[in-house]
Amino acid sequence: MAKGFFIDLTKCTACRGCQVACKQWKKLPGEKTQNWGSHQNPKDLSYITLKVVHFQEVVVDNKLDYIFFPEQCRHCVSAPCAMQAAKPGAIIQDEATGAVIYTEKTAELKFQDVADSCPYKIPRMDAKTKRISKCDMCLDRVQNNKLPACVLTCPTGAMNFGELEAMSAMAKKRLEEVKKTTPKAVLGDPDDVRVIYLFPVDPKLYHQNAVASLEAPLMTRKQLLAKAATPLRRLFS
Ligand code: SF4
Ligand code: SF4
Ligand code: SF4
Repeated sequence: MAKGFFIDLTKCTACRGCQVACKQWKKLPGEKTQNWGSHQNPKDLSYITLKVVHFQEVVVDNKLDYIFFPEQCRHCVSAPCAMQAAKPGAIIQDEATGAVIYTEKTAELKFQDVADSCPYKIPRMDAKTKRISKCDMCLDRVQNNKLPACVLTCPTGAMNFGELEAMSAMAKKRLEEVKKTTPKAVLGDPDDVRVIYLFPVDPKLYHQNAVASLEAPLMTRKQLLAKAATPLRRLFS
């Protein structure tokens, strides 16, 4: 059965438990960082940081607020990155769960084509090996009936994981509740992704790539996929 996440940003306290749990489960090293004037650390996703909690200080309705965005791959329903990959087996979509998986063969792909195809700008390349990486839904855990490490560790209930249909229903129900007090709340691209975020305020306040429509407001999913297929067409033309 297709799996999915529901990430309720009204409940995220930026504890960064999910970010640390991801590093721990994936045995990924820490980043060398420096103080850049924010509690956020590190500044961005990387080949060795598959999940990062973004911090923003914003003014909403004339009130100062702090908003947090645990960013990761959205495991798109029809993944543009997988569709444009010219090397078979480099980017695969797990049939049972829908998880989008990057293999060692990504080293044979052109990184810029992969990066450009992603509406959320998620993939990152290792400078030495040229392999590309991102969140893999903790597929090893999920296949053994365990929650992804980030979901298991979340202490507030912001992160949820389960059957995609159930997550979608949970997201829609919660949106209705939140809208009673926060009418501008929205779900991020709920029909196109397996990681559904609930944004209590305008998604662009959280991150410039928070939802695909911010990058291309008038682009339909069909158009996005056509855009993603361009490198493939180039290859065979
Ligand atoms: Fe990291 Fe696994 Fe969570 Fe993906 S699902 S962000 S790989 S802990
Ligand atoms: Fe691929 Fe980007 Fe979608 Fe993740 S979010 S599946 S990297 S297109
Ligand atoms: Fe937010 Fe949960 Fe991650 Fe903590 S573990 S930063 S509450 S999503």
